[in-house]
Amino acid sequence: MEPYKELIGKFQEILKENSLKMTKQREIILQTIYEYEGHFIPEGLHKKVQESYPELKVGIATIYRTLQLLESENIVTSISFGANGKKYEYGGKDHHDHMICNKCGRLIEFCDDTIEKQQEKIAKKARFKIVNHSMQIYGICQECQENKK
Ligand SMILES: [Zn+2]
Ligand SMILES: [Zn+2]
Repeated sequence: MEPYKELIGKFQEILKENSLKMTKQREIILQTIYEYEGHFIPEGLHKKVQESYPELKVGIATIYRTLQLLESENIVTSISFGANGKKYEYGGKDHHDHMICNKCGRLIEFCDDTIEKQQEKIAKKARFKIVNHSMQIYGICQECQENKK
């Protein structure tokens, strides 16, 4: 992962380009995302920020707007759950793909060398230059299979 110092510098530039100011609230949102382990929903991020910094009074609208801004710059990435919204994660983590449970929304991360290399091969054959990729496999997780009602 890139050092936090570099990330905050990048964030400052993005804010400037969008005629926005670096506020304590925005800085804390970025820091919380950077430190967040795993995936989160905007409400979960909001709760964490509020719990750690109640005096800052960060509103959910600020969380949404900041996430949107960060996503447009690939600092955060998201997985869509259709009508059930999105789950986000810090985009600077090591590359990985996801398996997603349709029942409980659990995300399982994986990275497979064979799949990664195969994708490069396919792209090379098509003379396609890969910028990035994401793979999502949808299904039912083990726990939900065992708890079938
Ligand atoms: Zn499940
Ligand atoms: Zn992930």
